[in-house]
Amino acid sequence: MDIAAWFDRAGDIALTWLPIILFMLIVYLLWRTLQYMPRTRSHALQPNSSTSVTWEDVAGVEETKEELQEVVDFLRSPKRFEQLGARVPKGILLYGPPGTGKTLLAKALANESGAAFYSQSASAFVEMFAGLGALRIRKLFAEARKKAPAIVFIDELDAVGAARTGHGFNREQDQTLNQLLVELDGFSSREQVVVMGASNRLQDLDPALLRPGRFDRQVLVSPPDVAGREAILRVHTRGKPLASDVELSTIARQTAGLTGADLANIANEAAIFAGRQRLQYIRMADFDGAMERVVAGLQQRRVVTEKEKRILAYHEAGHAVMSFLMGEMMPVQKATIVSRGHALGYTLNLPSEERYLHTREELIDMMKVYLSGRAAEQVVFGRVTNGAANDLERVTELARRMVFEYGMSDEVASRTLRADNYALSEETKRLRDYEQARLTDDAFADAIRLLEKHRASLDRVAQALLEKETLVREELEALLADIEPESRSSETVGTVRALPMPD
Ligand code: ADP
Ligand code: MG
Ligand code: ZN
Repeated sequence: MDIAAWFDRAGDIALTWLPIILFMLIVYLLWRTLQYMPRTRSHALQPNSSTSVTWEDVAGVEETKEELQEVVDFLRSPKRFEQLGARVPKGILLYGPPGTGKTLLAKALANESGAAFYSQSASAFVEMFAGLGALRIRKLFAEARKKAPAIVFIDELDAVGAARTGHGFNREQDQTLNQLLVELDGFSSREQVVVMGASNRLQDLDPALLRPGRFDRQVLVSPPDVAGREAILRVHTRGKPLASDVELSTIARQTAGLTGADLANIANEAAIFAGRQRLQYIRMADFDGAMERVVAGLQQRRVVTEKEKRILAYHEAGHAVMSFLMGEMMPVQKATIVSRGHALGYTLNLPSEERYLHTREELIDMMKVYLSGRAAEQVVFGRVTNGAANDLERVTELARRMVFEYGMSDEVASRTLRADNYALSEETKRLRDYEQARLTDDAFADAIRLLEKHRASLDRVAQALLEKETLVREELEALLADIEPESRSSETVGTVRALPMPD
């Protein structure tokens, strides 16, 4: 056939097939889109088949479980609470580092309360086409309302809830977040729907999410302490044949800083080690190998060394002992060397009573409590670390206020000496700064003197912290039963709630 006829024929073919190809292409694209659409009656919006996870499977987070038990009680017998006019906990946010068991807790909660459980990971919304994330949220809530009592769980909330100023924020996220806010605001507290969220970092979340009536109940899920780690290991070795040389308490002691997910990983790796060697039982050696492997995989994460642990223990012990020495000014609730967020360890002081008025002596006592962490480092190790930066910031601020605003220095008393007062002479300013420094220096010297005097108590608390990692008030009271308060303020009743507490 000649060229012209060939072209003719090719044109014919194209004319016949092109529409068909185009049509198929359109059908294919539509089909792909539908893949992402919420399937109105299919699995996506059915309650997730009730999980088999129970409270027993979540270990080492007893305080969190206690807080959530309230929700379980409510969902089980809502009438009992409604009758009393009680408002239901509506929006609960679990927050804490990855792997501490937030998702696990939500599943267990759903199971324990017998409520319909709707779970969605927010990271899935972000991948959707325009408007679909918002649509999915709307359907999720509509469905949950129909099936009440129900729990709507939005996991990985950071994915849609990141503060809007953050980079990489797009319109789709914005729409999804807005829809979520609308839904949170939209249902009354009489509806038996509890909304739960999980997030790794509270600080990064859009503040709009945390407002009253939304995720206003925030529950911290912190990494486990040594007893918690042992309990988690027990959960994850349940049903696994262990050789008689395996000591879970030893493994727990060697895994400071690791989360539940890491420990689950260790238990699994140990079983694999043993299996590869065709053993009938898992030996301690298998756990050692597993620990090495898991910890090596975590190099980017901080694992506190033994030496650092000792310093931390003395630092926190210093705070605890000083709080007791200062009477009931700043009662210690808990001291711990388990890191939380950026703080490596912390001592939690809880006010016994709200107060607004403080004597100069009480404020100086407070400064000693703030400075006692660093003072303990100085007394015991002869040198100080950078671990006290937060404490120092608070002391500096307190001393500044005492001199600049409260007129509490010896040399320039009964005057305010505010930084923005340009009428102050250079000499007065110098004196003012000197007085501020003198207040903190004196408090630090006094803190050192007191801790040297009570060195035995300091050692006792530090040792207990090294062993148990967390000490609650009762344990501290027992350890420090013989301490006589050395506070300079004669009568102390309580402390101001707004005062920041030492790390
Ligand atoms: P998160 O949601 O906080 O990142 P997950 O709940 O997904 O952590 O935890 C991952 C896995 O780690 C869980 O499935 C469980 O096997 C284990 N795990 C984590 N925390 C705990 C815990 N407190 N008790 C028992 N197992 C835990
Ligand atoms: Mg999770
Ligand atoms: Zn401190």
